[in-house]
Amino acid sequence: MFDTGMIYEAKSVPEAVQMRLAHPDAVILAGGTDVLIQIRSGKLAGRELISIHGIDALRGVRQEEDGTIVIGSLTTFAHISSSPIIQEHLRVLGEAVSLVGGPQIRAAGTIGGNTCNGVTSADSASTLLAHDAVCELTGPQGARQVPIEQFYLGPGRTDVRPGEIQTAIRIPAASWKGCQGHYIKYGMRGAMEIATIGCSVNVKLTEDRMHLDGVRIAFGVAGPVPMRAHRTEEVMRGAALTAETVRRIGSGVLEEVHPRDSWRAPKDMRLHLCRQMAEDAFVEAVKRSGGEIRE
Ligand SMILES: Cc1cc2nc3c(=O)[nH]c(=O)nc-3n(C[C@H](O)[C@H](O)[C@H](O)COP(=O)(O)OP(=O)(O)OC[C@H]3O[C@@H](n4cnc5c(N)ncnc54)[C@H](O)[C@@H]3O)c2cc1C
Repeated sequence: MFDTGMIYEAKSVPEAVQMRLAHPDAVILAGGTDVLIQIRSGKLAGRELISIHGIDALRGVRQEEDGTIVIGSLTTFAHISSSPIIQEHLRVLGEAVSLVGGPQIRAAGTIGGNTCNGVTSADSASTLLAHDAVCELTGPQGARQVPIEQFYLGPGRTDVRPGEIQTAIRIPAASWKGCQGHYIKYGMRGAMEIATIGCSVNVKLTEDRMHLDGVRIAFGVAGPVPMRAHRTEEVMRGAALTAETVRRIGSGVLEEVHPRDSWRAPKDMRLHLCRQMAEDAFVEAVKRSGGEIRE
């Protein structure tokens, strides 16, 4: 049995917003893979819950006319990986979330929970950052949109305001059209493991496939919240696809990341991983884009 207070079950977004206003201290419950563990461990014991699990409108992946991919916040990892839209246009995200936990967690855990928990190791986060994803938050004043990089306020803290729930993740067409990405998760074991470092690289090549039109590099666990290596991205725009460019990406990200020591891994090891994973993810993304790295 779980030690909870009242559980309010919302059947629609307006109802969830009303419940959030009426019970400001209640915890939102989506798939429950974080929340139920925290209730069991005592951290959230006795707390009231607002379950949004029954809001079917928040499930699914769709595409808008302008190409924006919209993922409802209650969409599970398993659903995302098997979505034809994701497989066709955003393969890297399907691959990233297929590395979460095990099959049971992927069948229950949602992308909303994976972003709203504010955790730097979340496997969806770096790929969403590398694709300039936007969080849609709905509250008493209606919906607002927040770029995912600004959504993270600190460890475990996000920009979900009183009365709000996250209703969707939106990925604009400009972030995926003509782009290819690759996500690498380093963990101490192959499955059921939280990332020691996660790195997602999203590449767009010039038409002749000889140069970088743009590159976006994002990390999990390289800082207190998921982060981008903006300076490196800026410097590398227009660079030729050479081994020197790969090395410069590796050394560039080292100037930007700030991982720390933890029981999982020392800082030095994480720095080494950041460099190596950025280089490897970049090379694979270039390959997927039809480019070739020359000496
Ligand atoms: C055994 C195990 C292995 C795991 N392995 C991994 C892993 O490899 N990689 C990984 O990234 N994660 C992992 N996790 C963590 C977890 O599965 C994910 O973070 C999951 O995505 C959380 O989603 P959920 O729907 O279960 O969220 P919940 O537990 O329901 O909620 C999580 C948090 O987000 C808030 N929230 C949820 N939805 C919304 C919303 N729509 N609007 C506002 N706030 C919301 C909740 O209030 C809560 O604070 C693992 C967990 C377990 C138990």
